[in-house]
Amino acid sequence: MSQVHMRVDGDVAMLTLDNPPVNGFGLEQRRLLIEALDAAAADPAVRAIVVSGAGRLFSGGADIREFGKPQMVASPHLLDVLQVAERSPKPVVAAIHGTCVGGGLEFSLACHGRVALADALVGLPEVKLGLIPGSGGTQRLPRALGLARALDLIVSGDPVPAAQLRDGGLFDAVVDDDLPGAACALARRLADAGALPRLRERDVADASQPPGELLEARREVARRQYPRQPARLHAIDAVAASLGDFDAGMELERWLFFALLATPESHAMRHAFFAERAAAHVRGVAEDTPVRPVRLVGVVGAGTMGGGIAMNFLNAGIPVVLVEARQEALERGLATVRANYERSVRSGRLSAQQVEQRMALLRPSLEFDALAPCDLIVEAVFEDLQVKREVFERLDAVAREGAILASNTSTLDLDAIAAFTRRPADVVGMHFFSPANVMKLLEVVRGKATSAEVLATVMRLARGIRKTAVVSGVCDGFIGNRMLEHYGRMAHFLVEEGASPQQVDRALEEWGMAMGPFRMSDLAGNDIGWAIRKRRYVDKPQVRYSRLADRLCELGRFGQKTGAGWYRYESGSREALPDPEVDALIRQYRKDIGVSARAVTDLEIVERCIYALVNEAARILEEGVAQRASDIDMVYLAGYGFPPWRGGPLLWADMQGSYMAARRMREFAAQPGADAAFWEPAPWLARLAACGAGFHDA
Ligand code: NAD
Repeated sequence: MSQVHMRVDGDVAMLTLDNPPVNGFGLEQRRLLIEALDAAAADPAVRAIVVSGAGRLFSGGADIREFGKPQMVASPHLLDVLQVAERSPKPVVAAIHGTCVGGGLEFSLACHGRVALADALVGLPEVKLGLIPGSGGTQRLPRALGLARALDLIVSGDPVPAAQLRDGGLFDAVVDDDLPGAACALARRLADAGALPRLRERDVADASQPPGELLEARREVARRQYPRQPARLHAIDAVAASLGDFDAGMELERWLFFALLATPESHAMRHAFFAERAAAHVRGVAEDTPVRPVRLVGVVGAGTMGGGIAMNFLNAGIPVVLVEARQEALERGLATVRANYERSVRSGRLSAQQVEQRMALLRPSLEFDALAPCDLIVEAVFEDLQVKREVFERLDAVAREGAILASNTSTLDLDAIAAFTRRPADVVGMHFFSPANVMKLLEVVRGKATSAEVLATVMRLARGIRKTAVVSGVCDGFIGNRMLEHYGRMAHFLVEEGASPQQVDRALEEWGMAMGPFRMSDLAGNDIGWAIRKRRYVDKPQVRYSRLADRLCELGRFGQKTGAGWYRYESGSREALPDPEVDALIRQYRKDIGVSARAVTDLEIVERCIYALVNEAARILEEGVAQRASDIDMVYLAGYGFPPWRGGPLLWADMQGSYMAARRMREFAAQPGADAAFWEPAPWLARLAACGAGFHDA
């Protein structure tokens, strides 16, 4: 519930913003704050006002629960609140702790003074939603902090600790404790000084440097670093205007804010923001479902995945028992964990002391019995159902009652794995992505017996280890890899028909994918796809595959690890270099299957690859494997390098329109040699197309 508390301490009115969870400036809160400021101004006993936040932070800014609703734009606006504070006849001081971002920082900038705790995080993250600050942040922050540092904050969108801005002029004081005391003292000093002297940030001019060059250099960097993100450039335009007249700058900021609100990029980035929050809600699992405490984690298998999985928990301060079958595998795994941490020390992200603290939480063992006290055990052994059976039977025997048993399997049937135990309700999939200590995505695989309590616990834990968790039902490849198989299939067909791997990669990378499919396959190992295809040729003979990739693998070209794949690699380098041998292989292959190469356009490459994702996603929705369309977008944004400013494959499809998506698929089906069965629009999509609705309208 929105509240603003007021308490008078001697001659200072102490106002406290109280609107959990983030003290957002919703409509009711905006009204209450104006009323409280008015009351303090009218109280003859009060000489100055201090505003602080209740709970763990000052304010997270706008109230996201109002996004897209009439309250968001209803009067009074945040700008009105700022004006009331700024024009208050008595000095207003912001006392900042925890987090102070977006509208929270903009409000504090309109105050006459600011005091912050050293570890408070301050920032203007609006560019991450494809927007710019809309309540004066681009005008007041440069006046308070100088052009260069304001640009750092506004264009990156990354919050920084107040301590880093200690000498910047943004804060009157940065303190380690007694925030209320420091804020009251400042408020009284300002009141003593009388007529609110240099106080209003709008009256302070920046005189630090000739700005033209600085601005141009920043534009250059923004164009390179954030292609297709107009907000970053417009943020610079707005900040540039702060060099001139204040009111004209405010007007430009408003104008740019509303122009950006209408861009597809901002639409996509706001979609991603809400998609991430929606993914945390699991169908059939009530919000108040009890969660089990997870204080000790076990990991079985210290190979490629096990070590990285363990690091996630160590990083969150949770001790890990790491169990291996063989001593040398255990040692290799530990060495990899340490090497990863040491890389973080070299890059300055961790101190040597932090690394030792984390390593000290790691308890290596060759004995399954060591797992007995664990609250959660994640299995990451070989991808072989017989090996999984042996491991889960042993886990069932040693794990304590109530322990959660998780498998990191990528392709095996989780329900079959659960059936190896006498407690299938406690079994769940935790599908991490490689490298597991880096990749944000975690697919949480819900077996048919997995209990609500187990799901709620794993979803909560995922947040604690800073993963983006998305629930998937049981199927081969779950959400992400199941879709990716068809994306890869299309990429192979396109090369068969006339494109080169380089053209396919370039087209998709220019479109925004972090890495094209052939470079990605070389990185992951072409042998993985080969093994899957060999299985498919038996299990699903009706699905068509190009055999070109098999020929590549027959030559031992598994990718980076063998120094050659779709590209060649010089020793020690990850740079993908075109290889005439691959060109010759492709030419020979086309000859053997009687295909004469045709010119393939970049547009066709993008459409066939991305629509392949879309059609499989529609099947996944039909089967109930994904809970909602936005979960599928989240999987691709967090785990597959999908461009954030496109919002995910299904948002992209919605922007094309379901009618046109289905129509395009039918055109692909009609191409000579096409995989017509695959391109038949999935029933889910066909229904949307019939009524003109989008995936996200349901
Ligand atoms: P890996 O071969 O690198 O490591 C497996 C480890 O398990 C080995 O060190 C092996 O000694 C150990 N092991 C085997 N049997 C054991 C037993 N009975 N007890 C204890 N340890 C045992 O494999 P990986 O790539 O880390 O894959 C592990 C799991 O993660 C597989 O299910 C795989 O499908 C899945 N996965 C892999 C990736 C990836 O990119 N590599 C991504 C997601 C999921």
